Amino acid sequence: MSADTTLMPIPGPIDPVPVPRATVSRADGRVELVGLSKDQIRDALESAGLEPRQAKLRAKQLWHWIYNRGVTDVALMTDIAKAQHPWLAERFHIARPAVVEAQVSTDGTRKWLLQTHDGHDFEMVFIPDADRGTLCVSSQVGCTLNCRFCHTGTMRLVRNLEPHEIVGQVMLARDSLGEWPSQPEGRMLTNIVMMGMGEPLYNFDNVRDALKIVMDGDGLGLSKRRITLSTSGVVPMMERCGDEIGVNLAVSLHAVTKEIRDEIVPLNRKYGIEELLQACADYPGANNARRITFEYVMLKDKNDSDEHARELVRLIRHYRLPAKVNLIPFNPWPGAPYDCSTPERIRSFSNIIFEGGISAPVRTPRGRDIDAACGQLKTAAEKKRRSQVDAERAA
Ligand code: SAH
Ligand code: SF4
Repeated sequence: MSADTTLMPIPGPIDPVPVPRATVSRADGRVELVGLSKDQIRDALESAGLEPRQAKLRAKQLWHWIYNRGVTDVALMTDIAKAQHPWLAERFHIARPAVVEAQVSTDGTRKWLLQTHDGHDFEMVFIPDADRGTLCVSSQVGCTLNCRFCHTGTMRLVRNLEPHEIVGQVMLARDSLGEWPSQPEGRMLTNIVMMGMGEPLYNFDNVRDALKIVMDGDGLGLSKRRITLSTSGVVPMMERCGDEIGVNLAVSLHAVTKEIRDEIVPLNRKYGIEELLQACADYPGANNARRITFEYVMLKDKNDSDEHARELVRLIRHYRLPAKVNLIPFNPWPGAPYDCSTPERIRSFSNIIFEGGISAPVRTPRGRDIDAACGQLKTAAEKKRRSQVDAERAA
């Protein structure tokens, strides 16, 4: 079986279904250097015929140009002998995802429609604030999990993004913000959230390898404390996420009863609330200084009663979780089966959690006018209506 048709088990809304594995070689046969570790670059150079000592030196130089200087053209790498430039350029490639469209919201939020080298569209969002700038990065093209309130969930999963496509989003943002060379101070891009399209823990290896480069002091140099990974609750991967990546964890809880969570986050039928909260209690590295964020989308008359808020406080206390709650007003999209809770309801919900001693800010929606807000990401290639997706899945 060739690499691009190898099937790997990846869950559907509830149970595993096979989807094509991510690895898709470039049509021109060149090896992509972005997304490789320094050792992998050295191995690739050796396989192409360089002496081990030279391969080691060149790997170090390439790494520096790629991640500290943001250079994509070998010809600009002045400490590599000119005579070797064509040899490198023929065999290796330094990519960015292609930009199909870039939009700017009235509130300054920017959204990019991007494309992989084999023609799949995905999105990335940058949210500037007074004291920080957050890049919302995608991990998959589409998502298999089909949460009922999420627009991305109505897309078929097309494929996992590869490490170079994940770290490439961060590099593209730096290109566009003019933030090369990498430097610790004065950046606009200060934080990363794995909250774009897709479920990052269903693309674990690629997300880990990409974030390792983002966090490498010699790479893009962003601290793990400034990176948050959001999961809808892939319990078996949570411990590895803490151990092997070590970033902050956000959990899309969204409901406190089995009945409601089963409905709005279908993965709950596989990994229930108790199991999920226990995995949070066991999350490596969580403590009062590094709390777990529980995301809670406010859906009118669905999950937003005072009783639900009290139950949320009880659950967090019961599992002794170092937690904060992020209340997300539901962002509408065409054909969505829910409405957003009223501002009074959201305030009341938030107050009960605050009174329970837990911080519960309401997230201000950003970039709604360009469909860049949470749960609105969906590429034009896949404009199906919710009802159509349900009908297809039931068939
Ligand atoms: N798949 C991951 C990360 C991407 S979604 C996850 O589900 O956690 C990022 C956040 O946006 C999640 O908390 C998700 O539940 C929330 N979200 C999805 N659709 C939304 C919508 N229409 N309005 C508000 N938030 C939404
Ligand atoms: Fe996928 Fe997250 Fe959307 Fe659920 S909320 S469908 S897990 S992207």
